[in-house]
Amino acid sequence: MTQVLPKPDITETSAPYWSALERGALMFQHCANCGQNQLPARHECTNCLGTDLGWVESEGRGTLVTWVDYHRAYDPAFKDQIPYNVAIVELEEGPRLVTNVMTTEPEALRIDQPVMFRPTKRFGQSITSFDPL
Ligand SMILES: [Zn+2]
Repeated sequence: MTQVLPKPDITETSAPYWSALERGALMFQHCANCGQNQLPARHECTNCLGTDLGWVESEGRGTLVTWVDYHRAYDPAFKDQIPYNVAIVELEEGPRLVTNVMTTEPEALRIDQPVMFRPTKRFGQSITSFDPL
């Protein structure tokens, strides 16, 4: 039986994020009213509640905020990827996102480690991942 990853819930609001990933770009929302940058996509700015939100492409640089290493697959789709991590990365532009840091040396990861965005495709789905620098 072929395992498939759980699919993201793509809405009208988040569609630009996912379509950008399909072409290898990481986008975030920018509020024209107060200047806040945010992820995940929302109908309104989490700072000023403004709704004049545009999309900006990230340069891809960020830092590792925290992470957890998985040594057990809680979803069968991940069993061939163990061990892997689920991480929170803060982009230089400000937004934070839940992602993976790709490494063969998980013990070498550290808080505030510089990381760089790398688009990844798994089972036909474009997702974010980051490489440690
Ligand atoms: Zn705002």
